[in-house]
Amino acid sequence: MSQKVDILGVSVDPVTMREAVDRIETFIEEGEPRLIATANAEMIMRATKDAELMHILNEAALVVPDGAGTVWAARHLGYDMPERVAGYDLAQELMALAPEKGQKVYFFGSAPGIAEKAKAKAELLYHGIQVVGVRNGFFTEADERQIIGEIKEAKPDILLAALGVPKQEKWLHAHLEELQVPVAIGVGGTLDVMAGAVKRAPKWMQKAKLEWLFRGLLQPKRAGRLVALPQFVMKVKEYKRRNSKKT
Ligand code: UDP
Repeated sequence: MSQKVDILGVSVDPVTMREAVDRIETFIEEGEPRLIATANAEMIMRATKDAELMHILNEAALVVPDGAGTVWAARHLGYDMPERVAGYDLAQELMALAPEKGQKVYFFGSAPGIAEKAKAKAELLYHGIQVVGVRNGFFTEADERQIIGEIKEAKPDILLAALGVPKQEKWLHAHLEELQVPVAIGVGGTLDVMAGAVKRAPKWMQKAKLEWLFRGLLQPKRAGRLVALPQFVMKVKEYKRRNSKKT
């Protein structure tokens, strides 16, 4: 197993999509509750300013390199990073395998109605998939006991939590032991995309590593977040300078 790669203090696993899927399948067989995070540049930047998020990411069983920024940063810092493992794609790969493996999936998050639409899409794409529960991601503390109870009762193997960063990571970390779900993954906008509420960048833009630009331009609420990217690049360059001085 390759050593984790340190990007601004966040330990990221240098895995291919295939390796990530294999590791997760093993986690499901083992059955212990585990948290998986998909680290893009924005999440890493956020973790540098949020000690709780940083701690959670560094305790996670697997942190995949989501996004061109993360792959660039790892390579710039002199590490091998085979490829980008986007959270959306990872979720699709796992769902494609779920029917033959008899694994159950739970969708938790996004606006009311979205998880239901994502479930219908999953049933269309992955014949025989068992989506054993759906629940939107807008709730108060008073609803939490019920949400946890419903997830526990449904006994999913895979919990896809789409509450946004860092809410999904914090919520999963806080409740993972109690939920006893083998694999809980923070998947951001994945259910929105599956439901058709948000579009992914065209393939050529994904290949040109420009998905971040597409998302920033198309979703006005994200435009402000684009600023995080040049900041990320500057921080990684500074990180490299500081760390190479030590050696
Ligand atoms: N969301 C949610 N509960 C909240 C806040 C956000 O379920 O309290 C959902 C939101 O509807 C969207 C997802 O979380 O479906 C966040 O998606 P985004 O693409 O913004 O992901 P991020 O980049 O934050 O991971």
